[in-house]
Amino acid sequence: MNALDLNEHPHRRWNALTGEWILVSPHRAKRPWQGQVERPQQQTLRRYDPTCYLCPGNKRAGDQVNSPYTSTFVFDNDFSGLQSDTPSVSLGQGELIVAHGEPGICRVVCFSPRHDLTLAEMDTQDIRRVVDVWTEEYRTLGGKPFIDYVQIFENKGEMMGCSNPHPHGQIWAEKSIPVEPSKEGHQMQWFWEIHQRSLLEAYLDRELRTRERLVFENADFVVLVPFWAVWPFETLVVSKRVFGSLLDMAEGEKDSLADALKRMTARYDNLFNVSFPYSAGIHQAPTDGVEHPEWHFHMHFFPPLLRSATVKKFMVGYEMLANPQRDITAELSAARLRELPDVHYKQR
Ligand SMILES: [Zn+2]
Ligand SMILES: [Zn+2]
Repeated sequence: MNALDLNEHPHRRWNALTGEWILVSPHRAKRPWQGQVERPQQQTLRRYDPTCYLCPGNKRAGDQVNSPYTSTFVFDNDFSGLQSDTPSVSLGQGELIVAHGEPGICRVVCFSPRHDLTLAEMDTQDIRRVVDVWTEEYRTLGGKPFIDYVQIFENKGEMMGCSNPHPHGQIWAEKSIPVEPSKEGHQMQWFWEIHQRSLLEAYLDRELRTRERLVFENADFVVLVPFWAVWPFETLVVSKRVFGSLLDMAEGEKDSLADALKRMTARYDNLFNVSFPYSAGIHQAPTDGVEHPEWHFHMHFFPPLLRSATVKKFMVGYEMLANPQRDITAELSAARLRELPDVHYKQR
């Protein structure tokens, strides 16, 4: 038997963070990079849009009016997927029909008063304000007795179902630990019990030694394409120091996170010279009142684009029925992202 060649042979990769598997078919993507690079998009958005429900001073649903905010702005989602007065009780009809009431709170975070910017084009100090808002929201929401987990995330671009280009994200805080962080928490706990060490810290050690999946690093964060990446240009932003949540971050680390977000999102936009769509979010320790030494703060970026501004990876067929699959290897994607400039194409 020949040795397994990860650049040649179809293989399964284990996602150490979730315990799941993905299929990689590198032989289908061995041709050199042929991505189309689009001409830079013309800026068509206005700084202020009178019809936008997120712009300062504008009206929202139910006659709510936004404050004339000048940096960030947070409010309860007018179409909230969770409600704080939901009874936290169970309904069981035998062993197969099971439901639990799920109280929670949904918030919207406007990153900037400017309608025409994205994180990639915002100044680093303005992104730092967003990090501060996330920290305060995590503290306040997570401090409520009926909130065990706070999910901070952003959907960007119409491809990700976000119809309003105004830079904003969401926070869903709820009674239960949802499926994805729950899987990761389980893996982190398993590793912690064996090694008394953070799983992601051990993983980062390996990645910093080989550097083949690294995109870039700054003083406090490493950005890489994880070995087990599913989306073509998926990345993981991991803190170098082990801590569980935004509340444990030093001032300098918050600056570093803002810097990492600015530079990663700029690289994404530079990949195809378009405002790069993605879903991104923070995974951090649950707020269930239990110590979580195993939890290691990180962010995920899940971008759907495959090889141009318009060609999207679909999760269909085999993915829906078996497990995720990709052609281009994580190593090739990392090399491609690594060679891009940090400076946004509109700001050069
Ligand atoms: Zn707006
Ligand atoms: Zn995660």
